[in-house]
Amino acid sequence: MSRQQTLGRYVCGASIERDEDAFRALLRFMIGDSFQRSSRYRCTLEQHDGEHHACVYDPGKPQRVSLWLRWANDRPELSLRWVRDCPAASEAGDGCCQYIDHQGGHTWEVTDPEHDMFQAIAPALEELFRDPS
Ligand SMILES: [Zn+2]
Ligand SMILES: [Zn+2]
Repeated sequence: MSRQQTLGRYVCGASIERDEDAFRALLRFMIGDSFQRSSRYRCTLEQHDGEHHACVYDPGKPQRVSLWLRWANDRPELSLRWVRDCPAASEAGDGCCQYIDHQGGHTWEVTDPEHDMFQAIAPALEELFRDPS
């Protein structure tokens, strides 16, 4: 598997925990039961100044819109809004997982250390849980 990446460009990775009842109720109202169980949201933009953005729910291809959570480090307020998906695709055919007109690089142009760490340990995990028969 080869992924084109530009060395030295990393995702922001800022994260926020939201699990209060009002927030969960709002999510349930907006997207029904398909919201993720995790209450931790993580910014996937390239490192940046200003507001963070985390994708809360991506209903998939036909819709081409996703629900994004937006927040700033110095303010407690959040905003949730539906935004069209970024239409860009890499030469290898990978779609971008950000929203339209996002700042920074497309998904394949930035490195996500958390994702890479998982990729690195995946073979070991596979070995660990392999059926012994
Ligand atoms: Zn961010
Ligand atoms: Zn993009």
